[in-house]
Amino acid sequence: MAIESRNPFNNEVVKTFEEETESQISQKIDLAQNTYLDWKKTNFTHRKELMLKTAVLLRDRKEQYANLMTIEMGKAKREAIAEIEKCALACGYYAGNAEKFLSNKILDVPEGEAYVAHDPIGIVLAVMPWNFPFWQVFRFLAPNLMAGNVGLLKHASNVPQCALAIQEVLLDAGFPKGCFQTLLISSSKVNMILDDDRVKAATLTGSEEAGSKVAERSSKNLKKTVLELGGSDPFIVLKDADIKEAAKTGAKARMINNGQSCIAAKRFILEKSIADEFLSYFKVEFENIKIGDPADDNFDYGAMAREDLAKELEDQVERSVEKGAKILIGGNRNKAFFDPTILTDVKPGMPAYEEELFGPVAVILIANDEKHAIELANDSRFGLGGSLWSKDIEKAKKLVREVESGAVYINKLMASHPAVPFGGVKMSGYGRELSEMGIKEFVNQKTVWVA
Ligand code: NDP
Repeated sequence: MAIESRNPFNNEVVKTFEEETESQISQKIDLAQNTYLDWKKTNFTHRKELMLKTAVLLRDRKEQYANLMTIEMGKAKREAIAEIEKCALACGYYAGNAEKFLSNKILDVPEGEAYVAHDPIGIVLAVMPWNFPFWQVFRFLAPNLMAGNVGLLKHASNVPQCALAIQEVLLDAGFPKGCFQTLLISSSKVNMILDDDRVKAATLTGSEEAGSKVAERSSKNLKKTVLELGGSDPFIVLKDADIKEAAKTGAKARMINNGQSCIAAKRFILEKSIADEFLSYFKVEFENIKIGDPADDNFDYGAMAREDLAKELEDQVERSVEKGAKILIGGNRNKAFFDPTILTDVKPGMPAYEEELFGPVAVILIANDEKHAIELANDSRFGLGGSLWSKDIEKAKKLVREVESGAVYINKLMASHPAVPFGGVKMSGYGRELSEMGIKEFVNQKTVWVA
């Protein structure tokens, strides 16, 4: 089966690649393992030098790599450039902090000296999605290569050129070839990798279905996994919030990456008394969004990543409207383009209430009061991120503790940052990426006790 790079803006096939065979996969695992045996002995100074060089190359090549994302999955060029810069930031962050994070943790024991040391574990498989084709991979590889592990990447089948570019930039920075290798394979070959004894762990970002398949096979092999799956993040606006600012940030939070982000704000939970005011500002923000050629800076967003994803979103909207939801603005699809859309009158039982909408559609829910707002926020299978808007910060700090999710930002756009842990609860997955917690997911936390 060929792996295809297809531009969702015009549906043209840009490049095709032959899928790698089982024997080619085995050779890459051999190389990864042999490289690991040397790489784990290198010191932090050496790893840091290569990681900083990677950051420099990423910044030098940001136009080139951003173009690849725009061509392969329709990301607006401006956002694609920002994504490359964020990858460089993550390289710098882990280059600067890995040694400190992985230093021995002294334990308070009744006698002798005891501490936890952090040893690398070996080959880690990353199964990654197309929505942030560089960032999703760098937030895995920067901590793991700094920790002394080596990586294998099975990227989403629609972003092969991005996958190869990531391998290229690391090689050019001086990392040994086996430190990080891209496998151009379909998902049916992932089990073979998970079954290999030398592969010690796996991390997956993507759908629940893919996550549960990889977790199932990994657990059969007693291998650790980190899963970052979908989200249906609440954006809670209380009556004492700065409504105009919340509406402006809310539109941005919904539309980031053309709505195709796991931590995009998806359910707007508005206290009844300010709902009309919020919606009047929010609608204007949506009216002003310009959709067009993602390579042209005159447009804010391009096409969705694939036509089938746009069709799936259209189906979710149509089924919700059939059950009584109202379209305040948008609702139309043209090939892979989907209009920025606001849905009101959304009720339990509708796809827009129950499912993740992975595209530019905002769901409006009305809450009677604060308590009801939190109940609505938690009435979801997901629990990734969220935000809460109120001028009363002390009250907001108390309320966010009641939200069932991996993170809640107060009066702030929810976005990942290398210094901040990222991950979910409920069906959004488990484990944490980024920060000190992220680098400790795939190390052997070894207890040492000296008499
Ligand atoms: P998938 O979950 O299918 O793809 C994500 C990655 O998992 C890809 O590399 C994919 O490979 C791989 N994969 C898929 N199935 C398996 C499997 N059984 N075993 C091993 N690997 C597998 O995402 P889609 O592209 O189909 O998007 C569908 C939905 O997933 C979205 O609507 C959204 O809800 C969610 N999603 C969430 C993301 C997030 O950031 N949390 C990102 C992307 C999607 P391949 O491409 O070859 O199938």
